[in-house]
Amino acid sequence: MVPIKTLLLVATLGFGALSGCGSDSSRGTELVGGVLAPTSSEAKAMLHLREEEKLARDVYARLHADATFANIEASEQQHFDQMGALVGAYGLADPALGKAAGQFLDPDLQALHDALVAKSALSPTEALTVGAEIEELDIADLDVAIAGSTHADATSVYEQLQRGSRNHLRTFHGRLLAVGVTYAPKHLDAAKYQAIVTSAKETGKP
Ligand code: ZN
Ligand code: ZN
Repeated sequence: MVPIKTLLLVATLGFGALSGCGSDSSRGTELVGGVLAPTSSEAKAMLHLREEEKLARDVYARLHADATFANIEASEQQHFDQMGALVGAYGLADPALGKAAGQFLDPDLQALHDALVAKSALSPTEALTVGAEIEELDIADLDVAIAGSTHADATSVYEQLQRGSRNHLRTFHGRLLAVGVTYAPKHLDAAKYQAIVTSAKETGKP
């Protein structure tokens, strides 16, 4: 009889991911090449971030009348691709596969996308607040992913994406300040938000 744990892994990872299974169960399930499979919470974070980067890209793609959004969208395309590479490397089913712009597997992200698109259409200033909200949400979710990560390559991608998100947040915050709006964070605590937006732009990948 196949143990339930194995059946669950098959359901989560697909059969291909099991081909590298070792016999030493204390080391956990291995992917091809001896890499340990992500835990269920790690896998969940990877899949969530793959779609969340898509959300950023797809919302910004609609706001190209403002060059800031066009520039940041290019960066979100890179983030989306980086998460796609991780999802593939860890044998997970890609939630973005076959999904057109503005389409999401996760109903919560679909609802968030639709609400943010509607809000961003109200005015250029509302569009900037939508940008700030997407970036702080991304930073908060990346904090969770980093805290739960047991894979150095995944952690490295998350840290790179978070650096990009902090720079994007600084940009949107600055644009809002310039039109007299002080953005109130919804997903980060006020101290963390202030520490980010009052510190210098970071170099490295966008
Ligand atoms: Zn991003
Ligand atoms: Zn961003």
